[in-house]
Amino acid sequence: MFQVPDLAAVNVMDSADPLRALRHEFSLPEGIVYLDGNSLGPASHSVLADLESAARKEWAEGLIRSWNGAGWFTLPLTLGDCIGRLVGAAPGQTAVCDTTSINIYKALHAAMVLRPGRPVIVAEGDSFPTDLYVAEGVVSTHNGASLRLEGVDAPTIEELIDDQVAAVLVNHVNYRTGALRDMTALTRRAHEAGALTVWDLCHSAGALPVELDKAEADLAVGCTYKYLNGGPGAPAFIYVAQRHHAQAQQPLSGWWGHARPFAFEQSFSGAEGIAKFQCGTQPILSLRALKAALDIWDGVDMELVRQKSIALTDLFIGLVEARCSAFGLTLESPREGHRRGSQVAFAHQNAYEIMQALIFCGVIGDFRAPSTLRFGFSPLYIGFADVWHAVEVLEEVLRTGLWKEARFAHRTMVT
Ligand SMILES: *Cc1c(COP(=O)(O)O)cnc(C)c1O
Repeated sequence: MFQVPDLAAVNVMDSADPLRALRHEFSLPEGIVYLDGNSLGPASHSVLADLESAARKEWAEGLIRSWNGAGWFTLPLTLGDCIGRLVGAAPGQTAVCDTTSINIYKALHAAMVLRPGRPVIVAEGDSFPTDLYVAEGVVSTHNGASLRLEGVDAPTIEELIDDQVAAVLVNHVNYRTGALRDMTALTRRAHEAGALTVWDLCHSAGALPVELDKAEADLAVGCTYKYLNGGPGAPAFIYVAQRHHAQAQQPLSGWWGHARPFAFEQSFSGAEGIAKFQCGTQPILSLRALKAALDIWDGVDMELVRQKSIALTDLFIGLVEARCSAFGLTLESPREGHRRGSQVAFAHQNAYEIMQALIFCGVIGDFRAPSTLRFGFSPLYIGFADVWHAVEVLEEVLRTGLWKEARFAHRTMVT
C-alpha cells in the first residue's frame, strides 16, 4: 500500500537525492513545474552559452574554416559515441543525423536488405504514428512487402514473428502509456525466428539505462530533443550493430555517407562503419547545442537516474490516486515501476481541457488524443517537491472545476 507522505517527508527525499545538484544546470522559468521533458527537454545554461559561441566564434569568425577547425564535419560521429555511452553501445556504432522518422526509414530498409526473401515488417498498432507511417512507406517501395501489427493482426508482438519477418520495429517505451519492453527477451525471440530488431529509443534514451550491445539489438533510432535536452528539432541518432556494418545498406546514399566525400566521385561507394548511415549536410548549430547538452551527462550514473525516475513516478501515481480519486482519473501506465519508463499517463474524458488548465497554472504536461494526460519526469531536473506541487495543482484544477472554463476548450495545433 502506498503511504501518502507529507510535504516534510517529500522534502527529505529531495535532500537525500544524489542527482539534485544537476537541476541547477537547467534554465527553467520560475514558478513552472516542467513535466514535459519527454516531449521537449529544457535549455541548460551551457547549451545557451555554447550556441552563442558556436554562432559568433565558429560561424561568424571561423566561417568555412570551422568545418575542420571546429570539428563540425565529424560531429555526427563524435556525438554518436557520446550517445552510445548512454544507450549501451560501444564506439563506432552510433551516428547523430537527420530525424527519427528518416532514421527509421534507413533502419527498416537496411533490415529488409539484410534479410532478403522475408517480406514482412512487424510493428505495434499503438506505436508512435510516425513509426507506422514510415514503415508503410518502406513497405510501399519493396515489392510484395507487408506490415503486421500488434493489436490488429495478433494480440502480442511475439505471435507475429515468424520466418517471413525481416524486421521487428518496436518502441522500448510506449510514448503514451510509458510501458517498457524487455529488450533482451524480445530481441532473442526475433533472432530465434531469423528476424532483426529495430528499437525506437525516443522515450528511453536519457530516461533509463539501455543496453543495446548486451541485448544484441540489431538497429536502433532515437530522439535527442526529449530526455537528452538537445533543443527543438535537434537531430536524431541511429545505431547499427557492428556485425551488420559490412552488409547493411541504407537507401539515402548521400555524399556524407560516401567513403571519400571530398573526392567528388561519380558514383556512390559507402563509407565503412556507421559513417555510411549519414546522408547529407547536418544542422550544425543544432548539433553544437546537442554537444553541450550531452556534456551534462558526463559522469551521470544511469542506475541512479533509473532509481530516481521510479521513485518520482511512484510518488506521482500514489499522490494522484490518494488525492484525486473522486475525479474520474484512470491510470494508463503500468503500476509496477520496473515495467514503466519515466512518464505517467492518466485517462480522463476531459483530458484536453484539464491539461490546458494545468498549463495555465504552471504545471506543464501534455495531452495525447483521445483522452490521455501525460506527465514526464526527467530525474535530472525534477525533484520530489515538484511532484507534490504538481499534484496539489491537479487536485485544485479538478476540485474547483477550473478546467470547465470555455477558454481551456480551445484546441491548439500542437498538443
Ligand atoms: C518523438 C518521437 C518520434 C519523433 O520523430 P521525428 O522524426 O523527430 O519527428 C518518433 N518516434 C517516437 C516513438 C517518438 O516518441
